[in-house]
Amino acid sequence: MITTRRLAIVLIPVLILASSGLTTAHAGAHTSAEPAPVSAPAAVPRPEGYVPTVLVTGANRGIGLELARQYAARGWKVIGTARRPAEAKDLNALAAGSDGRVVVEALDVMDLAAIDALARKYAGKPVDILFNNAGVTGGGANQQFAKNMQWELFDSVNRTNVVGPLKLAEAFLPNLLAGYEKKISNVSSSQGSIASTKTGTLYVYRSSKAALNMVMVNLANQLKSKGIAVALIDPGPVDTDMMAGLPKKMLRPVTTAGSDLIRITDQITVANTGTYWTFDGTVLPW
Ligand code: NDP
Repeated sequence: MITTRRLAIVLIPVLILASSGLTTAHAGAHTSAEPAPVSAPAAVPRPEGYVPTVLVTGANRGIGLELARQYAARGWKVIGTARRPAEAKDLNALAAGSDGRVVVEALDVMDLAAIDALARKYAGKPVDILFNNAGVTGGGANQQFAKNMQWELFDSVNRTNVVGPLKLAEAFLPNLLAGYEKKISNVSSSQGSIASTKTGTLYVYRSSKAALNMVMVNLANQLKSKGIAVALIDPGPVDTDMMAGLPKKMLRPVTTAGSDLIRITDQITVANTGTYWTFDGTVLPW
């Protein structure tokens, strides 16, 4: 098991790199080859009184819990998934105070049969936004080439960060088509940017987010004609358990990260589908 301190040692230089990578990305954003910026208004007419639904994976803590809170505060219906609902104290409290608008569902995104079972439970019901948030790093110390490389991590991290999100998109496709927003928003990471990678760390995590980006760009191309928009969004370094042990001043508050992710998701359209955004709405290099 990796300790918090060891994770911090591994991730601090990574975060510094991420910052410089973002700067580079911003400098090069919005060239003529890039899609329109997200300042374009969302053109999604909804019927009067329609209450949209968002499905958020990994909604029991961190960024996922914040997304659930903020969508619930907007008056949306929220399907918040957790691997262990009985232990999801904060999410359960949110659901308890929501007049039934927030529902907690058990889901391990590695379990493809469970994803299908959950989709069957919601058959015929619209899901306006699928928010693929659940994710794992695998621990920085466990993925050091020629030092401590735990090869089996590729299986579990990719299953969680890549296969699960794509399977969710497939299983909930009929629900998304039945919704008005028609969006799949994926919490990616600047660590998935091959162009920004200047060090040799986080082999498993970085490659999983690069793979997430690729499968979702494929999906964006395939679903565009159906009116479904797909986005990859980097939340920046955020103050969650994933970053525990790092100095707070290096991290963005989870409330800010949540509102950034939602603001960008509000503004994604089929015109900018398949774009790799960072939290301020500029475009990251692949
Ligand atoms: P946390 O570690 O705080 O939370 C991770 C969430 O994912 C938990 O709810 C966890 O559930 C859930 N999860 C992990 N594995 C599975 C699984 N197999 N099935 C279902 N749920 C699972 O991380 P964050 O909130 O920080 O991260 C959320 C997303 O943001 C991730 O995709 C991450 O890669 C991404 N991200 C985060 C950054 C940051 O700085 N925090 C930066 C860039 C990207 P459980 O409680 O059961 O473990």
